[in-house]
Parts: sequence; structure tokens; C-alpha cells
Amino acid sequence: MSRGPDGETGPMTIHFPFDNTYARLPKRFFARIAPTSVTAPRLIRLNRDLALRLRLDPDRLSCPEGLELLCGNRVPNAAEPIAMAYAGHQFVPQLGDGRAILLGEVVDRDGIRRDIQLKGSGPTPFSRRGDGRAAVGPVLREYLVSEAMAALGLPTTRALAAVLTGETVLREMMLPGAVLTRVASSHVRVGTFQFFAVRQDVEGLRLLADYVIGRHYPQAAESDNPYRALLDQVIAAQADLIARWLHIGFIHGVMNTDNMSIAGETIDYGPCAFMDAYDPATVFSSIDQHGRYAYCNQPRIGLWNLTRLAEALLPLLFEDEEKAVAEANEALGAYSGKFEAAYHAGLRRKLGLLTKREEDPTLAGDLLRAMAENQADFTLTFRRLSDAAAGPEADEAVRNLFINPLAYDAWAARWRERLSHEPQDGASRQAAMRAVNPAYIPRNHRVEAVIQAAVERDDFAPFEELLMVLSQPYEDQPAFAHYAEPPEPHERVHRTFCGT
Ligand code: AMP
Ligand code: MG
Repeated sequence: MSRGPDGETGPMTIHFPFDNTYARLPKRFFARIAPTSVTAPRLIRLNRDLALRLRLDPDRLSCPEGLELLCGNRVPNAAEPIAMAYAGHQFVPQLGDGRAILLGEVVDRDGIRRDIQLKGSGPTPFSRRGDGRAAVGPVLREYLVSEAMAALGLPTTRALAAVLTGETVLREMMLPGAVLTRVASSHVRVGTFQFFAVRQDVEGLRLLADYVIGRHYPQAAESDNPYRALLDQVIAAQADLIARWLHIGFIHGVMNTDNMSIAGETIDYGPCAFMDAYDPATVFSSIDQHGRYAYCNQPRIGLWNLTRLAEALLPLLFEDEEKAVAEANEALGAYSGKFEAAYHAGLRRKLGLLTKREEDPTLAGDLLRAMAENQADFTLTFRRLSDAAAGPEADEAVRNLFINPLAYDAWAARWRERLSHEPQDGASRQAAMRAVNPAYIPRNHRVEAVIQAAVERDDFAPFEELLMVLSQPYEDQPAFAHYAEPPEPHERVHRTFCGT
């Protein structure tokens, strides 16, 4: 027993400053459901920095009592646990959170409202044939990759904690079960809009759109047509996000409408992976047999998903259907231009160009083509190019990455000529390039090794070490230089699997 914040004596409670809004929406938006208890929870990791940003007490969260909350054995005071309803890809009219439970929302230290959700915490009315659980492998993968994305500076959901449940889950084999506590600026997806559209529930659609405008795009409310402004802003956010994925070699792997966040954050790290050698056709996901979600297809699939969003929003865009379709098409028409602009601006930064010239996209495209033809490692090429920006002494390290180093030499001569028209000196260019071209990404073979150590030996030290290295992706870390290296041929991982 201890004294609570209001001076009463009672069981120790961990204060979550919940301020829930989604649970105030009508009943058909979600199902109320508590997490399922587990037998022997054990903390794998608590993200202390993130806890502090969320105004949670990391010391108390890592005590046995905090663990009870993070595994779903108890719900914190003022939590209103719900599973959210949404539809999905290929127009499945109902998916919903089948293994995730939203505990509630808190306003963080920056004044931003964040969802706190348990993933893998037991079945919900949306589980269909699933068990509502998660295996430790996908939980560690999501923890590592989402935190790496955050450190790389991309919009993403975050990982607050990972716990073992002490129970096993049956996948291809029996595996240790785990729960991830995920933090997002919201869990509203394109598929959430589809859920109401397919039911022709225009009132629900309008409530959802108003909710999203209020929470994520308040400026849209000032517009003559707020729903058109909402669509424009979601399109802009996604175009920018997908361009940024391409800049770091990220492949989401399952870019369905239910896995596309309305807030423009990367969400649902299932079979995602980073590319090693540059090949625009790279696919990892085992379910992606036709390359639908290949690296280079991501911009196109983004537009496909946004087109589904525009369709869902039609009844709100205009009463007259023809006018609504015209509005939707106009909004969608802006996507490619926005994506191209963001993509090329990022490539210029990666090449150390501050000014803009018409020939820059060709220069960047020719480097990428040479990299593809010569199986050059994507991340290392740009990282080492940052040092070569200071002077040609560093060229050797870059050219060695190409099967035929002459391909680099020919391109580098053109690059240097282009750099001679830039205002920056070599040293500042090198620093600017190193700040956008990471040394460390969550390479797939490293992620797999971490998972293997956890599953086979109950050893989480490799997870901790990789997580630490990835927290400073733009810094040289001489003691961990091996983490920057691509896999040896025998270490290569060609396939990744959904977390189900
Ligand atoms: P995903 O491909 O991971 O985005 O999941 C697609 C849908 O399946 C979502 O509605 C998930 O909530 C649901 N789902 C995935 N895994 C499970 C599971 N083990 N149990 C219940 N539902 C699941
Ligand atoms: Mg999903």
C-alpha cells in the first residue's frame, strides 16, 4: 500500500494521463474489449525516453506492477480498452484490430495526442480465425525497425515496450508469445474510411472525417471544402512518406489500405525490410509473389491506396456525384508531382546538392542505374559518397562497392563537375551528406540473428546491442562498424513473413 497522488492510501497505481477521444465516437466505430491475461510476463524492454515523452514514469512502468499493465493482465486506471473497426485491402468489408487493443490516448510533452495500444494481447471481435497473439520474432522486428525509423527521422509509430507473455503461440511451430506496446499519433487508417463507405454510412464517414481533421489536419477546417482539404493533405503526407522510404531503401512489404495511416506515419511493420544491394525490383515478403509491393512499386501502390480513400470520401466531397469525382481526380492528380518533387529533393540532398538544376534527376538516376548494374550496396554507397564529397581521396571506398569500379569513376567525374557549381565547401558538404545518408540501418540478416538468439537461446543481448547501434544511425560507431556491413552471401535473407 502507498499514498496515491491525491493523498489517499490504496494499491499503488501507475498514472496514465489518459484523455480519450476515439472511445467517445459512436459504438459502431469499435468494440469494447479488455486484453486477455497471460501467465508469466517478463519485460524484454521498456523505451524509457519514449515513456518520459508520454509523461509516464519509466521506473514504475518497469516494476512488476508496470509489467502487469504492459502485458494486459491489468488495465490502467482511466483506460477504455477498445479494438478499432476498419476495412481493408481488396475491399474486405471488415477487418479491424484482430490482435490489438487501444488502451487510450495521452497528450505528450510536445502537446501531440498519442494512442497507446497493446499488440498481441488476445482475441477481439475482429480476430476472425486468428488467435489474437503475437510471436516474439515479429514483436522484436517491429520494435527494432520502428525505432530505427524514428532515429532516421521518418514519421513512424513507436515502440514503448516489449514483454514476453510466458506462453507459446502456434505458428509454423511453437514460438514464445509477446506483446508490443505501440504508440501512434493515431491508428486511423485508409481502411477505417472504407469501413463506413462500404456500409454507405455517410454519417459515420462524416464523423470520422471530422475527427481526423480535428486531430491531424486542423488547417483543413478553415478551407471552403474541408473534406477536399483533408484528402489533399493525406495525399501530400503519403507522397512525402513514400519518397522518404525510397531514400533509405525501405520496403514496407504489405502496403494495404488497412496498413496505411491517415496521419502519414509508417505503420504495421510486418514483412518489412531494408534493401542491401540496390535493385529496384527487390521484394521480401513471402506473400508478395508478383512484386506488387516491390521497392520501386511503392509510389504506385501508394496512389492506388489513396484512390481508395478518395472513393470512400466521395459522398463528402460534393453532393453531386460528378462534381465529387472531379474533386477526387483533381486531388489524386497532384500525387505524382508531389511524390516526384519530394523524391528528387531527397536525392539532391543525398548527393550533396544544395542548388537545383534540370539535369540533377538524370545524374541521380544514372548513379542508381550503375549501382543496380553493379550490385552496389544502397546504404554504403551513399554513406561513402558523403566522404568522397570532401575529395577524391575517398573514392576508392565507393568504387570498391561496384562490381565494375569503372562504372563509378565515369559517374563520379560528372558528379564532381556538377559539385563545382555548388556554393558549399567540401567539408560542409560532407557533413550535410552524412546527416542524410545513414551508416546504420536494420539490415535484415542482423534482425533475423537477433530474433534467432531470442527464440532459440532466450538471449536478448543481441537485440539490445542492435537497438543501441540503430539509435544513432548517422554517427560513425567504430566499435560497431560491422553492423554497417552488408550480409555475406550465406547470411542473405531473401524472404520475410507477416507477423501473423
Ligand atoms: P496485417 O496483415 O498484420 O496488417 O493483418 C491483417 C488483419 O489480420 C488485421 O485485421 C489484423 O488485426 C488481423 N490479424 C493479424 N494477425 C492476427 C492474429 N494473430 N489474430 C487475430 N487477428 C490477426
Ligand atoms: Mg495491419
